[in-house]
Amino acid sequence: MKKFKIAIAAIAFLLGLVWVVTPLPSPLFLGDYSTLILDEEGEYLRIFLNSNEQWCFPPSEEPIPEKLVKAVILYEDKRFFYHPGVDPIAVIRAIIQNAKSSERLSGASTITMQVARISRPKERTILNKLLEMVQAVKLEIRYSKEDILRIYFTHAPYGGNIIGYKAACLRYWGKEPDELTWAEAAALAVLPNSPSLINPVAGQEQFKEKRDNLLKKLLDEGVIDEETFELSLMESVPGGQVPFPVHAPHLARRMENIFPGRRVRTTIDMDIQTLAEELAREHAANLQRYGTDNVAVLIAETRTGKVRAYVGSQDFFDDERLGKVDGVIAPRSTGSILKPFLYALAMDEAIILPDSRIKDIPTYYGSFSPYNADMEFRGLVTARSALINSLNVPAVRLLYTYGIYEFYSFLQVAGMTTLFRTPDDYGLPLILGGAEGRIWDLVALYRGLGNSGDFSGLIVLEGDSLEPGNRLISPGACYLVLEILKELKRPGSEYYWHQFSNQWPIAWKTGTSYGHRDALAIGVSPQWTIGVWAGNFSGEGNPNLMGSRSAGTLLFSIFNSLPKNPKLAWFKKPALDLTEVELCAESGYLAKPECEHKIIRDSPRTVKTLKICPYHRTLFLNDDETYQVCSMCWETGEYREVDRLVYPPEVVQYLKERGQSFRAVPPHNPDCPTLSFDNPIEIIYPVEGSRILVPRDITGEYQKVIAKAAYSVEKSELYWYLDDDFIGATLDRHTMPIALETGRHTVSITDSEGHTKRVNFRAERK
Ligand SMILES: [Zn+2]
Ligand SMILES: [Zn+2]
Repeated sequence: MKKFKIAIAAIAFLLGLVWVVTPLPSPLFLGDYSTLILDEEGEYLRIFLNSNEQWCFPPSEEPIPEKLVKAVILYEDKRFFYHPGVDPIAVIRAIIQNAKSSERLSGASTITMQVARISRPKERTILNKLLEMVQAVKLEIRYSKEDILRIYFTHAPYGGNIIGYKAACLRYWGKEPDELTWAEAAALAVLPNSPSLINPVAGQEQFKEKRDNLLKKLLDEGVIDEETFELSLMESVPGGQVPFPVHAPHLARRMENIFPGRRVRTTIDMDIQTLAEELAREHAANLQRYGTDNVAVLIAETRTGKVRAYVGSQDFFDDERLGKVDGVIAPRSTGSILKPFLYALAMDEAIILPDSRIKDIPTYYGSFSPYNADMEFRGLVTARSALINSLNVPAVRLLYTYGIYEFYSFLQVAGMTTLFRTPDDYGLPLILGGAEGRIWDLVALYRGLGNSGDFSGLIVLEGDSLEPGNRLISPGACYLVLEILKELKRPGSEYYWHQFSNQWPIAWKTGTSYGHRDALAIGVSPQWTIGVWAGNFSGEGNPNLMGSRSAGTLLFSIFNSLPKNPKLAWFKKPALDLTEVELCAESGYLAKPECEHKIIRDSPRTVKTLKICPYHRTLFLNDDETYQVCSMCWETGEYREVDRLVYPPEVVQYLKERGQSFRAVPPHNPDCPTLSFDNPIEIIYPVEGSRILVPRDITGEYQKVIAKAAYSVEKSELYWYLDDDFIGATLDRHTMPIALETGRHTVSITDSEGHTKRVNFRAERK
């Protein structure tokens, strides 16, 4: 009796020991899964191999298709739902069978035991089988039957590098599990136990035989009917593999780096993505004939900021053309693409309205002197025309007035992430493409313009949301600028878009970077914001590269192909954010009594006031109208009051060149004592009466002489004349390069107050 007790205790101890020394692997699976990148609807954009080069989808909560469950249970483990992890009936039968024959150990393995085995594959020995049994019981204690099935289907091997039923369905038939036929379910059921069957050369016949046997069992058990059985037999077993789709590969790669092994649902719309990819590829093929290799496209929804298409390059796999570079986030020169924001901000600051005239004259900021693409100066242009024609001089002058720090900080807060230098470092060229930007950021910026000035960015992960409330420009100013950008001339046949009633308006702008390295076009409608870049990832310039032609044409072929919501055809006028003001028709600034023609225009509601028309003036003239006079020099009562449009002389010259005629404005009475009052202008160089030797450079070319002036009024312009011809305006640092011929010359400088200083000197070229 005592011995018996000891024996029982010993067995209990041994069992306990086995229980303790065979813990469940923790974690059960190492979680080495494929990264799945999905579009908004759950369609696959891209599927990545896991770190073991396997296709193994991460676990999901989707139900396992019933066909597959029935087929597997019938094939592997009939009593699965009734046993505790180990099937005693199957074990006894296996022992008898194995005792009878000398063949290797077979059968008796339940689905639960297989889960234990595939979680940490080991050699198939009796001892290991016993360990699996213990672990299976433990699994049954910890997990429900449904969980165990799900774990099994997610991790079972299906041949080659395919793990799990989902990868198998997609890889063998290109379909989702719930679309499986009975023949396909049966084929999948037999694979995990002999995955080498999938070998297309050797295994095909054997594979079909095993599958058909299982189908017969399903028929015998009454799971399928005779007709289904017959039809199923006619289906072939899979031989090869269906390649996985590749869409938005650059975005997919970014997401895989951030969320490896996860299922990542993006905001991409497969239809729009496919459309953009096709159009980008076609367009790039055209550009490539003229030496431009690469194209990138980003499309977002204006209202939600959701990215709907992301084309990093025209062809991810074109290594010769550096197709793996992501043109959506690679920083490139911005060209003129930032100008609209400056105009909108300047409207909020009451510096200009669309009709306000801005000077377009040679202007020197120290050594920096902007010029327009056509190398011409127009004297005065409306802000509207300056923006439509993307003139550089008015934009630089506007930036100077608005403030480079203010504009820089706007760009930062609005979401430009590539301002690596300081505002001083960029200087005024910032507005001409001095800074680099990402298409991603620029599309976000334009979307802000179309989103009533709320710059809340873009999202690409489904479920993310944007936080509104980053309003940096008033809805009124945004609207006025969008109305201007709508009028930009479209490229090619799009030029006549107004004449076609089926054409949709879009506010858009182009940019061409220095050296023709980058062509940009960005457009925004209430529904879509589209960014297009064309250029060479190698950085090589190309004279054929122009914003409108190289990028604009693709912008419009995309915009015209996108689905349109008629309710979002064009921006609604933000009536509450605009107020009517009376402007002078000639200057575009607030009208005053002297102004001849007046117009009513919209203005953003702002606390600041637009300046009053500077060009209409009441002149006091002597009787002959040969001199202007003032209270210091008129004889009592002997003057006439005349209202005149008086443009400053520095613009008159250019307006005349463009065919405008003016009544000359008489000079001030030379006998007037005010003219000898303190003069804030001082000419430092050349000196009165001096003789200047025109210098040459090392090649022998004559160089310009740098004239210098001092001006005691800060932030104001000086206007320079050489021999009475206007040669330029200076700001801040009053230095002016002058080309001099041999002979006598006069340099004269005036300011906007009417002060004048002049020097006479002689130049010699030797
Ligand atoms: Zn006026
Ligand atoms: Zn006077």
